[in-house]
Amino acid sequence: MPQQRVATYDVRVGDADAHAMPDPVSDDGSAPAPQAAVARREPSPETPLALTRRARRMARVLTQRYPDAHCELDFTTPLELLVATVLSAQTTDVSVNRVTPALFARYPDAADLAGADRAELEELIRPTGFFRAKSETLTRLGAALVERFDGQVPGRLDDLVTLPGVGRKTANVVLGNAFGVPGITVDTHVGRLVRRFGWTSQTDPVKVEHAIGDLIPRRDWTQLSHVLIFHGRRTCHARRPACGACPVSRWCPSYGIGETDPQAAARLVKEPAR
Ligand code: SF4
Repeated sequence: MPQQRVATYDVRVGDADAHAMPDPVSDDGSAPAPQAAVARREPSPETPLALTRRARRMARVLTQRYPDAHCELDFTTPLELLVATVLSAQTTDVSVNRVTPALFARYPDAADLAGADRAELEELIRPTGFFRAKSETLTRLGAALVERFDGQVPGRLDDLVTLPGVGRKTANVVLGNAFGVPGITVDTHVGRLVRRFGWTSQTDPVKVEHAIGDLIPRRDWTQLSHVLIFHGRRTCHARRPACGACPVSRWCPSYGIGETDPQAAARLVKEPAR
């Protein structure tokens, strides 16, 4: 159970799951008092149990909305995914997927990466941006794998985060998608969405990861990460969220920060460049 109580929020009128609507006729049959004269009841703080139920309901609905959500980086081995994830910093998955076929063919294992000619490696990954820093990271990564892990990608978080260029986000991507170990990936989309959802107010990625982990069953962590990233890329955009076309709007305390007109919102939903 989560320890944290989230901030109170207003649930929108029409959310039959969360609200009993006021009776339009008073007990004695007379017309209801004008709205202005009715004392507004302060909404109650959301209990941890209510938050858990709401979060799981939102997760379920979003999973149904994006049944094909998956890791959008192309890979066939843990090393390929690790390399692709390192390259995905500050760029799109599409641009990473464009360079990785040639990269993986040229450097099929960790020792090849460790001994790569820097100029050649930089040229291969140049379209992903920051290619000098990334090439430095990849050669050090290859060397560390050879020196400490016999050239294999380790399948434990504690080991992965000791590698050059590998933080918790990258480690969780690799664990969840290459090793089948449930992991929560807190990228820019996931952090933004769960704060909008009112699941947490934390901004530190590790605290966000733990907050989600407290709400959602472990077996669902990896898939939920994909689902949230899909929702962030397609509907709940950073600048103009399409609230009027959002399948979880009825449970979202941030409904209304974006376009609410259904037709206008539907036009904002997109298949983005990843
Ligand atoms: S209602 Fe709006 S803010 Fe909330 S999840 Fe949907 S698109 Fe995002």
